[in-house]
Amino acid sequence: MILACLLAALVVVIAGLTLGNYLDPDSESNASSAAETNQPTEKTEVELSSEPKAEPEQESEDWDVEVAEESKAAVGAVTDPTDIRVLVNKLNPLTPASFAPGDLVSAAGAGVTDTDPSIVLRAEAAEHAAQMSIDAAAAGAGFGVTSGFRSYETQNQLYSNYSAVDGQAAADTYSARPSFSEHQTGLAFDAIAPAAGCYDLGCFGSTPAAGWLAQNSWQYGFILRYPEGSQPVVGYMYEPWHFRYIGVDLARDYHESGAATYEEFLGEPAAPNYAN
Ligand SMILES: [Zn+2]
Repeated sequence: MILACLLAALVVVIAGLTLGNYLDPDSESNASSAAETNQPTEKTEVELSSEPKAEPEQESEDWDVEVAEESKAAVGAVTDPTDIRVLVNKLNPLTPASFAPGDLVSAAGAGVTDTDPSIVLRAEAAEHAAQMSIDAAAAGAGFGVTSGFRSYETQNQLYSNYSAVDGQAAADTYSARPSFSEHQTGLAFDAIAPAAGCYDLGCFGSTPAAGWLAQNSWQYGFILRYPEGSQPVVGYMYEPWHFRYIGVDLARDYHESGAATYEEFLGEPAAPNYAN
């Protein structure tokens, strides 16, 4: 009887392993695969130490839950630049450095209001930004996008220019080095508020759009990435205009968590400075 139970448990573990590999969205890219490798071992211990269950379907459901929890817990490790959850800061550059997303679309073409047609975002971010801009305008807080995706080359030029004018130390507080910018993911944008007579970043913080976006953007999958007072963690001064798409589900979790920064939410170290 005991031998039969052990065999049954082994079969369940093997089935779970196969199922887990199918369900885990990060199985190919996530660096935390060591944790996954540990999973079956823990499962085996549970199986052996408790009364073995007879129904295989019940076991499959248990695996679903475990895999889902594991994926959530592993968010901090996402380095795949195509993953909408990717963390980019002064300690986490994009890899490869020259990364450019393959699904860029015109933000204005997707429906974002008050935006130059040449500005592009990843398709999913553009769609959500479009609905957000329409709802913001209806609430008297209209905004447009003045900067979306920026290539490695564009960021390199920007940063070089700022460094030449203000010096590297000052430039590092407000401009990312190439391959370290969220704009290179195609998931971030800088907002302006033409409806309120504001056509540049400097005036944006005092417009109705700034308040509306800070309060409501999470419902559309965006977060205010560089909040006031967060420079010791995020590495940049307050940017009321810079929003980052992380997906509706994760943005809701972020909002409900009360975290002040994406780094804190993910349980990742503060990134005030570059490693070198
Ligand atoms: Zn920005």
